[in-house]
Amino acid sequence: DNHFDVLVIGAGPIGLACGIAAKKAGLSYIVLEKGCLVNSLYNYPLNMTFFSSSERLEIGDTPFVTTLPKPKRAEALEYYRRINGKFDLNTHLFEEVLEIQKDGELSIVTTTKRQYTAQFVVVATGFYDIPMLLNVPGEDLPKVSHYYRDPHFFANQHVVVVGASNSSVDAALETYRKGAKVTMVVRGTEIGPRVKYWVRPDIENRISLGEIDIHYRSQITEIKEKSVIISTPNGTIELENNFVLALTGYRPNFDFLRKIGIDVPHTPPMIPTHNPQTMETNVTGIYLAGVVCGGLNTHLWFIENSRVHADIIIQHILTRMSSCYAN
Ligand code: FAD
Repeated sequence: DNHFDVLVIGAGPIGLACGIAAKKAGLSYIVLEKGCLVNSLYNYPLNMTFFSSSERLEIGDTPFVTTLPKPKRAEALEYYRRINGKFDLNTHLFEEVLEIQKDGELSIVTTTKRQYTAQFVVVATGFYDIPMLLNVPGEDLPKVSHYYRDPHFFANQHVVVVGASNSSVDAALETYRKGAKVTMVVRGTEIGPRVKYWVRPDIENRISLGEIDIHYRSQITEIKEKSVIISTPNGTIELENNFVLALTGYRPNFDFLRKIGIDVPHTPPMIPTHNPQTMETNVTGIYLAGVVCGGLNTHLWFIENSRVHADIIIQHILTRMSSCYAN
């Protein structure tokens, strides 16, 4: 049967939490994920350590046990996979939601594999699919990446890391330690204020000892095969370069949200229209959950403070259903 009370888009931590809440409430549900289970976490840097401690990443009242306070990516993958198994969630992987059409109250959901109907839809699609671009010539060269995985690849290479937030700082330190010649290009005047407190002294020391170069108040203006052009307060410079890691953040897929009828303002912070009390969007029966709710403010929501969306949404759905039957 292809009809469900609740259809959840995205099997990230919050999509899974929504699946658990729906199941506990006795609703029929399906979780659809375009990639692998917790796809965003899978695509994080291989050696990443979360800034959250493990208990703050827990869902389904299930302990996340780690020996150190902050889990590594590999531990989080293990945890959420066990969660999916423990609750025997109806998760369908490698099935992307392409569009939703409304037929009265009903949502008709088209995926890469089939069509479903659902009374309620929860959009928990996160923000990790679309990188913020530099919009400079040469950004499409194969040596430029907006995602960083593994430092070994960069051994003995000239690497430019753009940005000064956690992702950039982690990438700069790791590649430096594998023998890369690292230059950071930073728009502002300092290392980002939200950089993990235990990482900050390390990057500051590498910079002050000249082991990692940094250009503040600077921007890449062009990327060439063998060099990059950087505009700095002291004039324009050209640096020898093999790889560029442009880690300047990510944003939700606004085109997808608009395509399914959700209003998204055209000016920052582009927060998709929703009622924060119920998480319902301007489209009746379609809800938002997790970090997608923040629009361009991707640091507003994280797992710890958005996992509650699951219960808020399912409670609202139950109220809707009971008032529906009462009529
Ligand atoms: P996601 O985990 O992004 O899940 C969304 C899912 O939806 C993805 O699996 C995606 O593939 C899927 N999807 C998207 N579109 C479709 C579609 N059309 N059809 C089907 N599936 C779709 N948060 C913390 O709380 N603590 C941390 O320490 C932390 N560290 C982070 C480190 C990095 C490098 C990054 C980028 C983020 C970090 N975050 C952290 C934020 C973190 O991404 C989120 O908190 C968490 O992933 C949000 O969960 P989510 O379920 O809302 O979204």
